[in-house]
Amino acid sequence: MFTSRERKQTEVSPGQEHPKKAFGWAARDSSGVLSPFKFSRRETGEKDVRFKVLYCGICHSDIHMAKNDWSTTTYPVVPGHELVGVVTEVGCKVKNFKVGDRVGVGCIVGSDGTCDNCVHHLENYCPNVIQTYSSEYYDGTMTYGGYSNNMVADEHFIVRIPDNLPLDCAAPLLCAGITTYSPLRYYGLDKPGMHLGVNGLGGLGHVAVKFAKALGLNVTVISTSPNKKKAAIEHLHADAFLLSTDQDQMQAAVGTMDGIIDTVPTVRPLEPLINLLKTNGKVVTIGIAAKPLDLPVLPLDLGRKMIAGSAIGGMKETQEMIDFAAEHNITADIEVIPIDYLNTAMERVVKKDVRFRFVIDIENTLNSSC
Ligand code: NAP
Ligand code: ZN
Repeated sequence: MFTSRERKQTEVSPGQEHPKKAFGWAARDSSGVLSPFKFSRRETGEKDVRFKVLYCGICHSDIHMAKNDWSTTTYPVVPGHELVGVVTEVGCKVKNFKVGDRVGVGCIVGSDGTCDNCVHHLENYCPNVIQTYSSEYYDGTMTYGGYSNNMVADEHFIVRIPDNLPLDCAAPLLCAGITTYSPLRYYGLDKPGMHLGVNGLGGLGHVAVKFAKALGLNVTVISTSPNKKKAAIEHLHADAFLLSTDQDQMQAAVGTMDGIIDTVPTVRPLEPLINLLKTNGKVVTIGIAAKPLDLPVLPLDLGRKMIAGSAIGGMKETQEMIDFAAEHNITADIEVIPIDYLNTAMERVVKKDVRFRFVIDIENTLNSSC
């Protein structure tokens, strides 16, 4: 389905390897500090969609990657996998998009198109998946993400943003949205009346609450931050708020939940979450810490419980998620920032000080900073 991967190593500098100029912000080393960066992008290929980036969300994964937390980063890295904008050019074989369309790109921009996962619309699990940034593309050059002024991608990896969703607060759906929607669906945590816990009320967590409420679930936010209770209950309409550092509150909720979406980005104990589950309950760990978590087997076995994982979603499901969000008026709660606030914003995310996603105003602030 896609161009076969030809791995050509290139020694040319990022600014020279392709004909189209691009600029953004990149981290150069594991300090994770970002600064302006000139690079280039390919010409619009026959199946490619090129777009002007208007907004890009800051996912905690961008911070993990900027700091090489997972030992997978290639520097310089231009993060950003929640990017949205307006189409400026399409290739001659593009079927579904035209100039002027509102579009976005999430975490992936390529896959082999032939493996069992791709055939089943699970490009996200393809062994040859190409990430939006810090991945090697088919031509051997590195991919660069959405903290940049323009983007080009195969139309298969382009998502249409419905007209009723404002672009700035729709941007985080491209990662935070699909990463929480997909496990709710796949693990059957989508039946009205089920009791869902959402551990960590950050970018992913607050979108998980919104999807779960739209699906008719009874939602409890599990949080380390007492000052998020008001927003959780009054604004996000969660049914309950559990302070995970309060042993009495945690004890009172033991055995009450059908499932938990666990979004915490650092090493955390799983046993308190397992204890919150009913028999047959599931903890879906989507927060990815830099080090492995301990797996307590006994409390799992004694309740036939499950610890599960999930990573973003396939392209078909991503479009389905965006359309579901449009139908239910679900967007992220965001704080729009100029690009030169990026490093401060990332520090604030690490300190749990964001309500609930930072989104960079690329259109109005990136050009002037370079
Ligand atoms: P985020 O906005 O920083 O939210 C994480 C939340 O976890 C925080 O707001 C905080 O909520 C809670 N938390 C508890 N202990 C924490 C600590 N020591 N440091 C920071 N936060 C802590 O992050 P995010 O963008 O939602 O991403 C969450 C995780 O999911 C990251 O590890 C990210 O890499 C991962 N992720 C995975 C996928 C996937 O496909 N599986 C996709 C995207 C992101 P409270 O204040 O409520 O405790
Ligand atoms: Zn992300």
